[in-house]
Amino acid sequence: MGEKISDKMKFHIKTYGCQMNERDSEKVYCIFKEYGFEEASIQDADVVVVNSCAVREKAESKIYSEIGRIKSINKKAKIIAMGCVAQFNHKKLKTVSDFVVGTSSIDKFYRIVKNIEDGVVFVDEKMDNPDYIFPHKKGLNAFVDIMYGCNNFCTYCIVPFTRGREISRTKESIIDEVKQLVDNGTKEVMLLGQNVNSYGHKLGYGFVDLLYEVDKIGGLERVRFTTSHPKDFSKELIYAMKELKTVCEHIHLPLQSGSNKILKLMRRGYTKEEYLEKVYLYKEQIAEGSITTDIIVGFPQETEEDFQETLEIVKNVEYDTSFSFKYSKRPLTKAREIEPQVDEDVKLRRLNELQDLQAEITQRKNKEQIGKVFDVLVEGKSKKGNMLYGRNRQNTVVNFDFKDNINARGDVVKVKITKALKHSLVGELV
Ligand code: SF4
Repeated sequence: MGEKISDKMKFHIKTYGCQMNERDSEKVYCIFKEYGFEEASIQDADVVVVNSCAVREKAESKIYSEIGRIKSINKKAKIIAMGCVAQFNHKKLKTVSDFVVGTSSIDKFYRIVKNIEDGVVFVDEKMDNPDYIFPHKKGLNAFVDIMYGCNNFCTYCIVPFTRGREISRTKESIIDEVKQLVDNGTKEVMLLGQNVNSYGHKLGYGFVDLLYEVDKIGGLERVRFTTSHPKDFSKELIYAMKELKTVCEHIHLPLQSGSNKILKLMRRGYTKEEYLEKVYLYKEQIAEGSITTDIIVGFPQETEEDFQETLEIVKNVEYDTSFSFKYSKRPLTKAREIEPQVDEDVKLRRLNELQDLQAEITQRKNKEQIGKVFDVLVEGKSKKGNMLYGRNRQNTVVNFDFKDNINARGDVVKVKITKALKHSLVGELV
């Protein structure tokens, strides 16, 4: 427990970006709480933290406009900029904020809360101690970092520059963290890394070994993981998913493009044939396994034929959902130099076409679930009327009538699906 320094200081955290950023914001939240700060609205806060995302140009510029907006509604608040933009563009961010904290420097929040008056930039190249177990909020689900950074340098991606080179936490530290979480009531963990399939190589073990260890933890109901890189996604992992009871039947396997020419320009390290071979094995081995993906449209040199190849794979794989984006030039990355770049209106048209196709597939696949019975981990009361909600092992939200089970939060219940909505399912207890 930290030394309590203030009952009066108030904080607010605004988070942009991925699950890594969500977890980092949670760490900061817990540090503030540990030191006696209270959560408040932007208007009332003494300290406002903005956790930034650099993955697309639009997300990056949002940080500057958001800081301007915060200053216009609360002139007295100290502004702390953190996250990916803070790591690679700290000089510019320092001109508009009081503190800048890079992605490898979250531990420095312990110094900031003790001495809130010092304006400082903390942007370390490397983490002091990647095995340090940061606190968590109490909850049924928890994100657990298993590794930081990335070595892949896909030509469109800024992450290796904002989160540094890959470094894995030791198995022991991860297991300790998960055990602590389970002791505090957590039922489901999401193991996080930019490329979880390359976890542990320098430590002499791998991601599959870690899964076997985590699966042994008594009281843990479910294990999920993200993100998998198709080039490192192994047969052994598929067989482990089949064997291990806690590991859920869902993979997020970013395709990015269905054209081998574009995959090569992206420096992804796999062909569409290799990708599909892994997907087919997964589908064959994992009964009721769901699959989601990320796709970039309008990468430089992407022709209509290349784009059609992407659509073909989407039709062929039938992703449960996909996250698709227009290519956006990022600083320091190789793809910004590749010519010709694709016109914005072409990118937009392709994005709409892809998203329409995905919406059709998602709806059709949701309808196919009607009549099936799923195990649902109950998370709480649904916003949809008098219902409870939770997720099935495939990671789809399921709403259902609670009857007498109003206190079922944290239980795993069987639900028969009666109705399919756009992004979720509705069912009844069986
Ligand atoms: S694997 Fe590629 S896309 Fe993913 S974080 Fe690393 S460089 Fe970026």
